[in-house]
Amino acid sequence: MFGIDPYSLPLKLRLKLLGAAIRRRSMTPSGMAEHARRHTAFYRRFYEGHDTGDFESLPVLEKRHVKDVSPYDLLAEPYRDKVVLYGETTGSTGSPTPAFYTREEFRSARVMAFAAPHLDAFRPRRGESRTCLNGLAFGFTIAGMSFGDVLEAAGGLVANVGSRSTLATPPRIARAIARLEPAAVAAAPIDFLSWMRIVREDYPDRYPQVVAGMKLLLSTAELCADSRTRRISEHFGLSHIDVYACVEGFFTLPCTCGSKHILPAYHVELFDEDLKLIGRTGTGRLAFTNLVKKSSPLVRYLLDDWATIRECDCPLGFRLAVVPHGRYELNVPLSGQIANVEQIEECLFRFGLFGDYRIEIHDDRMELTVEQYTDEPVPAQAISAGFAERFGMVTKVAGVPFGTITAYREPRGRKPILKVRDRRSTARQEVPEFL
Ligand SMILES: [Zn+2]
Repeated sequence: MFGIDPYSLPLKLRLKLLGAAIRRRSMTPSGMAEHARRHTAFYRRFYEGHDTGDFESLPVLEKRHVKDVSPYDLLAEPYRDKVVLYGETTGSTGSPTPAFYTREEFRSARVMAFAAPHLDAFRPRRGESRTCLNGLAFGFTIAGMSFGDVLEAAGGLVANVGSRSTLATPPRIARAIARLEPAAVAAAPIDFLSWMRIVREDYPDRYPQVVAGMKLLLSTAELCADSRTRRISEHFGLSHIDVYACVEGFFTLPCTCGSKHILPAYHVELFDEDLKLIGRTGTGRLAFTNLVKKSSPLVRYLLDDWATIRECDCPLGFRLAVVPHGRYELNVPLSGQIANVEQIEECLFRFGLFGDYRIEIHDDRMELTVEQYTDEPVPAQAISAGFAERFGMVTKVAGVPFGTITAYREPRGRKPILKVRDRRSTARQEVPEFL
């Protein structure tokens, strides 16, 4: 992008250059909507009778709208011969969203990463280990490939091992970790915890050295609250960077100021439960328009997420920060507020835990089963009191050893999304078809 090693430039300058490059390539929200209408079969139908110049009058794109649509209907005609990659979301609602990428669009993740504040810490110095183990899933989503590309561009020697398959089983990945002693690992948090547990059990002599050499854990794809991220960092003595990404890859940048910043290439909007527009800040259902990506445009695309966006005063110049709370359809009303995985995790993990957990909400009580990853006792009474205070419900807490919920030696069959289950008579959770 810059014609020289971008890492030789100060971070603030890199961010400025990235911002300028994004602005140069960005269309207006209406401009992107018109591009989509003019060049794709899907949006031509979808926007029939609508004026793309009046952006806020355009229908919101929900996953169900693309359920039975040919992926090619979302591919912009001028890009038909230029796209080189195809990906889909996991499709938890039964409607995976397709996305195509030109080579340049795929490579944009590495360009964004040049300005990712945390990757500087990983940047290997001469003589240091550069080995990265990329254990993200490679099934359909672009995350596995783009994180491998980002790590390679940052100077890494990348082992793309994948995960969630019968070939890349947890014991085999643990073996690779014990042998390669990677400086960086990319993985969903629960996979990382599983592999490290197996390394400790099967290669006890190597475990201390493996932990000592590991500097960075990059995670994505599954919500991880800040307090859990901090606990994992402390326990393993590494930087744990959780990236809130979408079907197109980087959508936010995690920052050293502690926030996840929305990239300026995205026009974000929040909607209420009836899909009425709230605005650009507040709490609601998150939709975005990518102002740069023209090959398969996503305009007013409704993620499944419930999120809070606020303006922020980041010393690096970012203006918007986002906190994802969890999947919208899994929201639970608790003492007059909406809660989701993020609020529950912030309440739970401040007690020093970071394993997996499940919560069942009944009419008169909550039942919490929580895994303890370390050998410390589970502070059940304190957690119970903390939950009662925060959510106004009697909470029974059962501490169990790691491995009770997480079958950590088995290839994982599903995303651990469904952690908070509302079993009250008033429940309105919609459980996803596929996890
Ligand atoms: Zn920041």
